[in-house]
Amino acid sequence: MGLVDRVRKRIVEEIFKRIPPEAQLTRVEFEGPVIAIYVKNVKFIIENEGIIKTLAKTLRKRIVIRVDESARLPEKEAKKRILQLLPESVGVKPENISFDKVLGEVIIRARNSEIFFHDRKLLYNIIFVETGWRPSIVREPPLRSKILEAALNYMIAQSDYRRDVLRAVGERIHRETIFKDQYLRITALGGFREVGRSAILVETAESKVLLDFGFNPSAPSVKQMMPRLDALGINPEEIDAVVLTHAHLDHCGLIPFLFKYGYQGPVYATKATRDLMVLLQLDLLDISKREGKPLPYDIKDVHKALLHTIPLKYGEVTDITPDIRITLYNAGHILGSAMVHMHVGSGLHNIVYTGDFKFGRTRLLNKAHTEFPRVDTLIMESTYGGVVQKPRKEAEEEFINLIKKTIERKGKVLIPALAVGRAQEVMVIIAFAMQSGALPEVPVYIEGMINEVTAIHTAYPELLSREVREKIYSAENPFTYRTFKVLEGKTARADIVESEEPCIIIATSGMLTGGPAVEYFRLMAPDPKNTLIFVNYQVEGTLGRKIKDRMESDSPIKEVNVVVGDKIETIRINMEVHSVEGFSGHSDHRQLLAYLANINPKPKRIILNHGEPEAIRALANSISKKIQKKTLPLPQDIELYAPRVLDSLSLVI
Ligand SMILES: [Zn+2]
Repeated sequence: MGLVDRVRKRIVEEIFKRIPPEAQLTRVEFEGPVIAIYVKNVKFIIENEGIIKTLAKTLRKRIVIRVDESARLPEKEAKKRILQLLPESVGVKPENISFDKVLGEVIIRARNSEIFFHDRKLLYNIIFVETGWRPSIVREPPLRSKILEAALNYMIAQSDYRRDVLRAVGERIHRETIFKDQYLRITALGGFREVGRSAILVETAESKVLLDFGFNPSAPSVKQMMPRLDALGINPEEIDAVVLTHAHLDHCGLIPFLFKYGYQGPVYATKATRDLMVLLQLDLLDISKREGKPLPYDIKDVHKALLHTIPLKYGEVTDITPDIRITLYNAGHILGSAMVHMHVGSGLHNIVYTGDFKFGRTRLLNKAHTEFPRVDTLIMESTYGGVVQKPRKEAEEEFINLIKKTIERKGKVLIPALAVGRAQEVMVIIAFAMQSGALPEVPVYIEGMINEVTAIHTAYPELLSREVREKIYSAENPFTYRTFKVLEGKTARADIVESEEPCIIIATSGMLTGGPAVEYFRLMAPDPKNTLIFVNYQVEGTLGRKIKDRMESDSPIKEVNVVVGDKIETIRINMEVHSVEGFSGHSDHRQLLAYLANINPKPKRIILNHGEPEAIRALANSISKKIQKKTLPLPQDIELYAPRVLDSLSLVI
C-alpha cells in the first residue's frame, strides 16, 4: 500500500467500522470532495440519520448516501412510482424525470420544487427509500432557459466522464500530505492595480490553487489580456483546483483556456455561477467569431469546464486539496457571486478573498457576508475605492421619475442594460413601481441575452433577496410581471418604436457597443418625446460614453455617428439622455470602509486588488487615516498592501 493510499484506506476502514450491518454497506467512493457511501438499506440510514451526521463530524468530510445498483428499482418502475407519489401541485410530467445510472440519481424537474423539502424532507425521503434512486431536484424556472436545459442534459449524458473526473479529484484531495515544511504564498496574476483578468495563485508545499481566471478583452496587448501564469513557468496541469467567485468574464473568461492547455482538475463555484459562466463564455465565443477576433479556446473547452465544475452551496465547508479547505459565502454582487474563505493547513492561516462584492442593499440580492470563523489575510476588491455613489433610494426615485415623465408625454424609454444583474435589477424596480401604482402600466419590452439570464435567476430563488424570493414563490413573480413582453428572434423593432403607445424597452448591450439597444437608439433618437436612460458605467471608447459626453457637455453636440452594417450613419439626438448612478453591484468608497468596520473577526493584513491605481490609492489613504484617528476598528499595526501583477506575497514562511 503506497503512501498516497493510506489516507483513503483509513477513511474507508473508519466508515465500515461505524456503519451498522443493518445498512448493508457495499462500498465507499471518493467523489471529488465528497465521500459517497453505497448501501442497500437506505431506509435504515434515513431512520438513523444521526449515524451519518456523527460520521461526517468525526471524519470532517462531506458525505453523500447512495443506493447500491442491485437495490434500485428498474427505471421504468421507478418513474411510475415517483409519478404516483407526487401531488399534482408539484407540476412534474413524465418527461421531467430522468435517470443518472452512473451516480444512481433521479433528476426531477419541478415547478414547485420546495415541496420536496417540506416537513423534514418527507417527500424526498419517500422517493429515495421506495425507488433506491437518490432524488436530485431541479427547479423548473417559470421562464425557460435553453442554455440551462442544454447544460443539464449534457451533464446527464456525460455522467460516466463526470464520475471519472470526480474520482480523480477525490484521489488528489484525500491523500497523505507529502511535505512537512509549511509555507503559504500568494501571487497576483491579474486584476491588481487594474480591473480585468482577475486571477490569484495560492501556493503551499502541497497545493497550487487558482482563485478566478479572467479575461480582459479591452487591454492594449495580448499579454495584458491574460493572467500571467505563463511568467511563473507553471503548466495548467500542475494546478490542483480553480475556485471561481462569479460568472463575469473578467473573472471566468479564460477558465476554458486552462482546460485547453492540460488542466484536468475541478472548478468550484455555486450552481448559478456555473450556469451563467457557460452562458457568458458561449456568448463571448460567438461575439469574437463575429468580430473576427478569435479566442484562445473553443466550444469544447467551454464544455469541458462545465463538466469539471463541482457546485458548492454557500456555507458548505469543502476540502479542495490535502491542506486547503474552502467555504463560499454570499458576495451580493450578481446572482451566485461568492466570497471565498480559505482555511490553510490545520489552523496555519485563513484567507478571505472577497471577489467583487456589494456591501449594501439592492433589490435582487442580500448584502455581502461579514462573519467568518477566522481571518488572517483579507484580499478585497477596490473598483469604486475612489467613488461615493448616490444613495440607492434617491437613485431609484430619480429613475422612476424620468420614466414617468416620458410616459406622461407619450414618449418611449430606452434602457440599455448589462445582461447579467443590472437588467434584472431594473426589471424588479419597474415591476414593483407598477405594482404600487408609482408607474402607469405600459408595455415593457425585453430583448437580448437578458431573457436567458433572467430565466437562470428564476431557477435559483433561494439566492435572491427575501422580498424578491417571496414574490417568486407567490404568484407575483416580478420577472414575469404582466406588462413584461419577452422579444425573441427577429422582432419588429420599428413597429414598436412607431406605435402611438408609450413603452419601456430594456435591451443589451449596456454601453451601446452592439446588440438590439443600438438599433433602438437609432430609431428612437430623433423623437424629442423619448428618453434614453443609462443605468451602468459607460467605458471610454464606447458609443454609450460618446453619447453621454456629448449630451452632458455645456454646449451639447446633438449628433453622433453610428455604424450600421458597412455604412456610417449620422444620428440626430433629439431624445432626452440621462444617466442614473447608484445601481452598481460593487461597493462604493463608503461601503468598502463599512465592510472593514463590520467584518468579523478583524484581519491582520489587507491586500487591495481589482481597482485602477487611483481607486486603490484613495481607498488605502482613507483606511490608513481612519485607523490613525481610530474611526475604523482595525488593529493599529495592520499591514496594508496594494501589489502589482506578478508580485508575490509570503503569508506564512
Ligand atoms: Zn463582477
